[in-house]
Amino acid sequence: MNYLAAMTGALALVMSTAGCTTDEQKTNQSNNAQAPFSIAIHGGAGTITRADLSAEQEAAYKAKLTEALNAGHAILAAGGTSMDAVIAAVQIMEASPLFNSGRGAVYTFDGEHELDASIMNGENLQAGAVAGVKTVKSPIALARAVMEESVHVMLSGEGAEQFAKEQGLELVDNSYFNTERRFEQLQRAKEKLGVADKQAYLALDEKYKYGTVGAVALDQSGNLAAATSTGGMTAKRYGRIGDSPIIGAGTWADNASCAVSATGHGEYFIRYHVAADICSRVKYLDQSITEAGDTVIHDVLLPAGGTGGVIIVDGEGNVAMPFNTEGMYRASRVGNGEVEVAIYKD
Ligand code: ASP
Repeated sequence: MNYLAAMTGALALVMSTAGCTTDEQKTNQSNNAQAPFSIAIHGGAGTITRADLSAEQEAAYKAKLTEALNAGHAILAAGGTSMDAVIAAVQIMEASPLFNSGRGAVYTFDGEHELDASIMNGENLQAGAVAGVKTVKSPIALARAVMEESVHVMLSGEGAEQFAKEQGLELVDNSYFNTERRFEQLQRAKEKLGVADKQAYLALDEKYKYGTVGAVALDQSGNLAAATSTGGMTAKRYGRIGDSPIIGAGTWADNASCAVSATGHGEYFIRYHVAADICSRVKYLDQSITEAGDTVIHDVLLPAGGTGGVIIVDGEGNVAMPFNTEGMYRASRVGNGEVEVAIYKD
């Protein structure tokens, strides 16, 4: 056990015996025999109300979120890395048509799919990102390859695809990402949009826009990692790229503060540098992740018109999942504690 893990383990014990657990912040209470570890995932934020989902749909989302969470948790519980854990969780959601990433990616205005993803390692601040890829089955695997096998941080378009091919990653035809549900969403979005209507696009109902997936984790060695993968926003045009592949906006991890993955209206998350801003508040203002996350999501982003949410984990294994939309598909597990899966606000 390294020094940081030993220290965080001791701190978790002190906090749990002091009764520091709050409703807002799930505090790590794994027993002292094992260093703390935690994982949180999201499957997108937006206008998700009980009226929008049938009981079967709700059960399907919860089952897939649980499967993704369990995959990451098993790696952490066995002493694996937070990097492997976030990849495992994200890849399960990428392979599912339920979420706007990988298989279930939304359509662009021109009827294609352009995928973005990024990953960051909190131990050494290494990061990898890809934007606008059309044929890579698992964009998060490509983001990791960019981080580990290239000298760059961010690759885009055809160059990124060429790199994926050289790395031996699985390529698919763009039609692999076709789903009827997302096609219908594009048609409905276009009806509302008119052509290139800026105001109409901004006013588009969130349910046509969001659904990115992401994961954040703390491993038993005290290392944080964050990963985010998306198809972007329905009816996006002109090679639009959102926050998800932008390090500091949609994804951030730093062992000195926290790990964050975001989902929501990317343009706002880019301008307000959401993921890094939350971690900077933790690092420089000594705020808890709950305080920092709530401030940025509710007090900074919302008044500016930005909707969405984030998942956050810190070096003690605490988890916070603030969002300012009606719902956010989300799940978390602190140590070997309870599996928490939720969709709606309450
Ligand atoms: N943030 C993503 C984007 O703007 C969308 C989402 O989170 O669903 O591309």
